Amino acid sequence: MRLNLSRASRAEDRIEKWMTLHHQERVLAGEMTPKGRCPDELFLNNLARKSKRIVLSDPRVDHAATCSSCMKRLLEIRQVIYSRRRRLVATVSVVTCLTFAALFIVALRYRAWERLLPSSAVAVQTVDLWNVGTYRGAQAGALGSVSLPAAKVRAIVILPAFSTPGRYLVTVARSQNGEGVVAEGQSLTEAAGNQERVRVDLDLRGVKAGSYFLSTTREQDQASYYYPLEIR
Ligand SMILES: [Zn+2]
Repeated sequence: MRLNLSRASRAEDRIEKWMTLHHQERVLAGEMTPKGRCPDELFLNNLARKSKRIVLSDPRVDHAATCSSCMKRLLEIRQVIYSRRRRLVATVSVVTCLTFAALFIVALRYRAWERLLPSSAVAVQTVDLWNVGTYRGAQAGALGSVSLPAAKVRAIVILPAFSTPGRYLVTVARSQNGEGVVAEGQSLTEAAGNQERVRVDLDLRGVKAGSYFLSTTREQDQASYYYPLEIR
């Protein structure tokens, strides 16, 4: 029913538009005889803007509706009004898009900046593997006492005695075979006395508390060692 009504009103609109255009064409062709003199520009402006100040019984309305030069001027003013409106809509759309783009960029920058937050947010933890027996591959060493917080961690890993210097990859993984890596970092060893240390940043934020495995792999020989690790 509503559909029929809207269809009917669309048909009425179409007919009304045609009648208006037809009337305009006749007026512009000078087929009608206007009464009185042409009104001033202000009146035509108000009429074109459909101002509330216009009283339909005003004889100037009747004149403008039948005079070819007034009708021409009215159509010109309407054209200016429409193009101004179109420009305004386009400007508003562009400004809105730019504002959203700017907000998006600011949000991205903020997130990037948040990630670079000062080192005060980084927990420095020493992981001492010095006295832990080194077991290759599947066998894990005893590392019951080591735990790391679920935060950004700067881990200073003291490698087991007699470890070879070089570049080491340190990973935290769910399983002992290195699957389900939740964080990793690599760096060259630093000698401290007779110890070799590796300093790596591990981002453990959002990692669930539980049992994991910490592994060290020397880049040169790809030998990996696994140690049980608790994340708290
Ligand atoms: Zn006129």
